[in-house]
Amino acid sequence: MPAPRQRSRSRRRVYKRTPGGRTVIHYEKKIPNWPKCGACGRRLNGVMRGRNVEMKNAPKSRKKVNRPYGGVLCPECARKLIKDKVRYMYWERKREQPWLPPLPSEEPPEPRE
Ligand SMILES: [Zn+2]
Repeated sequence: MPAPRQRSRSRRRVYKRTPGGRTVIHYEKKIPNWPKCGACGRRLNGVMRGRNVEMKNAPKSRKKVNRPYGGVLCPECARKLIKDKVRYMYWERKREQPWLPPLPSEEPPEPRE
């Protein structure tokens, strides 16, 4: 019988089969939810899921994807953000150098953060 503090629902129950054939319940700490994209909330691929101590001790390559905004934004949102930033930079440059070719729309693109 585990200690009463372990039988709380704040711990998850894992059913284990012992070598003798009995099934026992192990009370383990809960695993946090999957990391989500900061813009659309989709689940991020290539990013591990773990408690703070596990995350702290894991290598960086398991916690983020090696690209700008990796581990923060999903690839679609990162692509959109980078495109918007480049378009905004071009629009700012075009204000000073009006002979540059026009943008598809002449209105300034909204910079997304
Ligand atoms: Zn996203």
